[in-house]
Amino acid sequence: MEFDRAIRLQELPPYLFVELDRKKAEALAKGVDVIDLGIGDPDLPTPDFIVKRMVTAVQEPGYHRYPSSQGMLSFRQAAAAWCKRRFGIDLDPESEVVATIGSKEAIAHFPLAFVDKDDIVLVPTPGYPVYHIGTLFSGGRSYFLPLLEENGFLPDLDAIPNDVLEKARILWLNYPNNPTAAVASLGFFEKVVDFATKHSIIVCHDAAYSEMTYDGYKAPSFLETPGAKDVGLEFHSLSKTYNMTGWRIGFTVGNPDLVGALRQVKSNVDSGQFEAIQEAAIAALESDQSCVDEMQRIYTKRRNVLVKGLRDLGLDAPLPSATFYIWTPVPKGYSSTEFSSLLLDRAGIVCTPGNGFGTPGEGYVRMALTVPKERLEEAIERLKSVL
Ligand SMILES: *Cc1c(COP(=O)(O)O)cnc(C)c1O
Repeated sequence: MEFDRAIRLQELPPYLFVELDRKKAEALAKGVDVIDLGIGDPDLPTPDFIVKRMVTAVQEPGYHRYPSSQGMLSFRQAAAAWCKRRFGIDLDPESEVVATIGSKEAIAHFPLAFVDKDDIVLVPTPGYPVYHIGTLFSGGRSYFLPLLEENGFLPDLDAIPNDVLEKARILWLNYPNNPTAAVASLGFFEKVVDFATKHSIIVCHDAAYSEMTYDGYKAPSFLETPGAKDVGLEFHSLSKTYNMTGWRIGFTVGNPDLVGALRQVKSNVDSGQFEAIQEAAIAALESDQSCVDEMQRIYTKRRNVLVKGLRDLGLDAPLPSATFYIWTPVPKGYSSTEFSSLLLDRAGIVCTPGNGFGTPGEGYVRMALTVPKERLEEAIERLKSVL
């Protein structure tokens, strides 16, 4: 038997890293000591006190039953209190916070609540692929907003045509940004609130990297902006902040009608996250955050090694103030794919070609700081003989 997959799967964009993955597997099979700067998944373990809380929580029979799909009240209270301490924003844990199974889940599901067939979603490019895929799954269409270096990798909202604005339901934003490592100011968020209010568009801000910052930089919350809670939501994640990518826990906060709609979708799709995991997440959120400082110290050293090394080799690598990505222009004469292939073939280094995140990413590669500092030094040594 052959079963045709639904059009929504057939229409998914091709996976652009197929060729790179194949080459990486080939290199590994040949015994090459591959340095993988390709994926944005922290190599550091989850802090011990969080793991310990999980170990005791998992033994509590009360947590072995179905959770509530919106998350335990104590988790939502801890998330609201964390937002208050970190950003000074007030959130009602009852109506303005929902627990998520990692933020990716919520990002993929949210459009189901507001996007009908042929509605438009405004999607930044290059960007995290899930904004576009969530749009496709909801039956909508993406209108891509190029993030260009000359605009500080912020979208040009004035350039969106009127007929697009009329059909647009959601605007996705993500700062600190993956893959460009750009940050946004409160001034930009103020413009976004005006824009969204004028055109009745829901703002969804993905804040996955809000804590992964350097040199004392504090990323603002979109919800700090006056009027933001009338138009938007913010998607938070414990994955990068506490090295918890495998645990699948996050939370979405903001406008109560929008939070309620996400809760309605989720209550029909999943039954929430395991409450023992929520308990461990509470321990993380309520801690003194010294584990976050420690994480920032480690990434700062790695960032400095890689950026200095790349610059010494003549690359024009910017020094990011947030995220664990270096988004660097490739040397003249190479495409993103050609340069990535060169690094893998000649130096055993995996990085991600920028065009994989969308056409305007052509001319860049993304390197993730998710290997120890010594491996980054080794990577620079190897590059010296190639470049
Ligand atoms: C890693 C990442 C996420 C989310 O991760 P979860 O593990 O699903 O919480 C969301 N957005 C961006 C841009 C990311 O890079």
